[in-house]
Amino acid sequence: MQQIKEQQDIVILGGGLAGLSCALQCRQQLPQATITVLEKRHHPVPEAAFKVGESTVEVAAHYFANVLGLKQHILEQQLPKLGLRFFFPAGDNSRIETRRELGGKR
Ligand SMILES: Cc1cc2nc3c(=O)[nH]c(=O)nc-3n(C[C@H](O)[C@H](O)[C@H](O)COP(=O)(O)OP(=O)(O)OC[C@H]3O[C@@H](n4cnc5c(N)ncnc54)[C@H](O)[C@@H]3O)c2cc1C
Repeated sequence: MQQIKEQQDIVILGGGLAGLSCALQCRQQLPQATITVLEKRHHPVPEAAFKVGESTVEVAAHYFANVLGLKQHILEQQLPKLGLRFFFPAGDNSRIETRRELGGKR
């Protein structure tokens, strides 16, 4: 476990989406503050634990893009998901690109 100083300005319990977003926002708004995120899971996590296909709604997208300043990252590194999508079965379903997709185009 990493040693941390006894005095911290901000301590965040849990390094999930909320905790890490909060830590980033605190870092941006309080650059001098000492911030510690306490996370119980060991990292790096096994590859199978990475989530693929997570999506977010407009209000969260606004927060990530404009409040946390991640707009460029979102535009360049993430895929837009236009509302609810359905993927119908194809073969053994092992290849998502062969499955028929139903959802909005714009
Ligand atoms: C299968 C699945 C699919 C989902 N898909 C979507 C999606 O597409 N879009 C979407 O917006 N949301 C989705 N969600 C919901 C989304 O994952 C949660 O809303 C979001 O992760 C909640 O963030 P959080 O930071 O509150 O909690 P978490 O992400 O759960 O983070 C909490 C963290 O706290 C840590 N922790 C817990 N107890 C302690 C402790 N005592 N000490 C230290 N650390 C601790 C945990 O290890 C964890 O890392 C999905 C959820 C699941 C389960």
